[in-house]
Amino acid sequence: MKSLKKKKREIRIGDLFFGTDHFQVIAGPCAIENYDCLLETAVFLKSIGVRILRGGSFKLRTSPDSFQGLGIEALEHLKKVGDATGMITVSEITDPRDIELMRDYVDIFLVGTRNMYNYPLLSLLGQTDKPVILKRGMNATLDEWILAAKYIEQNGNMNVILCERGIRTFEPKTRNTLDLSAVPILHELTDYPVIVDPSHATGKASLVPSMAMAATAAGADGLMIEIHPDPKHALSDAMQMLNFQQFKKLYERIGILKSVL
Ligand code: PEP
Ligand code: MN
Repeated sequence: MKSLKKKKREIRIGDLFFGTDHFQVIAGPCAIENYDCLLETAVFLKSIGVRILRGGSFKLRTSPDSFQGLGIEALEHLKKVGDATGMITVSEITDPRDIELMRDYVDIFLVGTRNMYNYPLLSLLGQTDKPVILKRGMNATLDEWILAAKYIEQNGNMNVILCERGIRTFEPKTRNTLDLSAVPILHELTDYPVIVDPSHATGKASLVPSMAMAATAAGADGLMIEIHPDPKHALSDAMQMLNFQQFKKLYERIGILKSVL
């Protein structure tokens, strides 16, 4: 059957594409904790075919007492691991003053939920040529999210990927409520590649596989999933992290699902 889906814009990162007919899985720890742990994660991901490594450097945590990330040290680890393994790298940019610094360290900028409304940051990212993954603000409507993406584009950077990561509702059983209908709606309204982060959407490792599968079936162009070699001892978001075995199993199931979609 011929696909009725609107053609998406294609975003190129080296030899890798986001968009129509390309499905990308991004995985890695919430925060980069040390070089060895990140390297182990990257080597594992590469061995099963994942090409994009995520890892937080400057963490925006709700509590000032929580682990805030290793900052520049984390970026150095990420660059070294990326160079050593050939993985494409993603890390969150939290402050416009860090753009110059970070552009030498990462392949893709990630804008987290707390900064979707940070228009000066978005405008400045528009002046770079790097792809930007723009997460949905936890209280943002789809229209507000699309307009936020336009702040990046206005300055010439059309390499925008949207990431649904759940919204805040009255339901406390999950960290956020995953709005899967965002995926087909955004595909109707826009040509952005749309990916889904089931880790922050649910906050629970046990829910990540089913929501990742559902997002794939809903037409997502990719997934972003938090993994850690030893989730129990992760310094941030330990509850939602998959271990390598759990992730491998999920990755294989996604491959099977993709083959019949
Ligand atoms: C993240 O992906 O590292 C992150 C902090 O997610 P969010 O901004 O969606 O909470
Ligand atoms: Mn996290």
